[in-house]
Amino acid sequence: MPGHVLRDMSFRPSLAPCRGWAAQVILRHSSWVKDSFIKENMGAARYIWIDDSLRPASEGVVPFVSAAVQFGFSVFEGIRCYSTDKGPAVFRMDEHVERLLDSAHIVGFRELPVTAEQVKTAINQTIAANEFSACYIRPMIYLDGAMMMTVESGQPRFVVAVWEWKNFLGAEAKERGIRANIASFTRLHPNIMMTKAKVSGNYVSSILAKTESHRAGFDEAIMLGPDGYVAECTGENLFVVRKNVRGNVGNKIISTTPRAGILEGITRDSLIMLARDLGYSVVEEPISRDQLYVADEVFVCGTAAEVVGLREIDFRVIGDGKAGPVTRALQHEFDRVVSGRHVRSAQWLAPVPALNAAAVRR
Ligand code: PMP
Repeated sequence: MPGHVLRDMSFRPSLAPCRGWAAQVILRHSSWVKDSFIKENMGAARYIWIDDSLRPASEGVVPFVSAAVQFGFSVFEGIRCYSTDKGPAVFRMDEHVERLLDSAHIVGFRELPVTAEQVKTAINQTIAANEFSACYIRPMIYLDGAMMMTVESGQPRFVVAVWEWKNFLGAEAKERGIRANIASFTRLHPNIMMTKAKVSGNYVSSILAKTESHRAGFDEAIMLGPDGYVAECTGENLFVVRKNVRGNVGNKIISTTPRAGILEGITRDSLIMLARDLGYSVVEEPISRDQLYVADEVFVCGTAAEVVGLREIDFRVIGDGKAGPVTRALQHEFDRVVSGRHVRSAQWLAPVPALNAAAVRR
């Protein structure tokens, strides 16, 4: 009902001066951000990178007539910058930037407005300008225009937003573990929407699943693939730990296979290496729903969530009903890596250089 929508809008005065509102939602503590948890966890930025320079965050707006807003045609990354003794440092920057450009390639962008080196410079400068010691980083390549519905009919544009984002799944999640359900929505088949790319439109399905979970009283949704096997959560990859499998005593860590319609997560990749460093055997196999129920531990991981155990799935207690020992060990290793206290830290953390004042356009 149009009248109803208009009445609603009048309660949001912050909308009035905005040319486009999507980026404003991210960058400001606006009245649109209703969820008090998000308000507490998302520190506002003062600068945003647009195309080739830093601008005041208030300029971080997206054209309404763009395939990005109208159809979800944009690719993005989620990266974290951590506070270390040597100053802020970006976790696995090279791999994230490579995946951003791979995503752009997968959806068919031919000429990009940026190179990998320019993306890295933009990320570093945006963090430095905002003077964050730790933050979440959201680079995006979006399609401006393109109402003719071809990539060629629009213009690729590049943006980097940053914000402080402390606990994505809640402060207690790492300690206690979270509760999940199997979503009624199926994860995308690669011939419907390609899941190796972080495409904005893919996340409509994630939002549907996670909203359903929250409304049913759970914290997160596990999505099955079109083949019926476990794919991933709405923004995290999933692992299972099983002891005594077919008489083999010892912990076996099972990760979903990249053949499932999953995003090949960079946290997932890091945890596989860290688990092998600790001597665990890690295999990539299809995981069925009932294997989750009888697992000794199930944990999920992603840049925003980091490493979080699942204590309950579909009203069935998993293992001891709290984050298990393997989950805790990997959380501990991951924390040591990202805080600069692990042998892999030097390889995986890229220190943020000082701000180049010339990059700021006022
Ligand atoms: N799956 C999906 C659908 C995601 O959006 C994410 C978050 N990027 C992940 C998995 C985890 O990937 P990463 O560890 O690279 O953040």
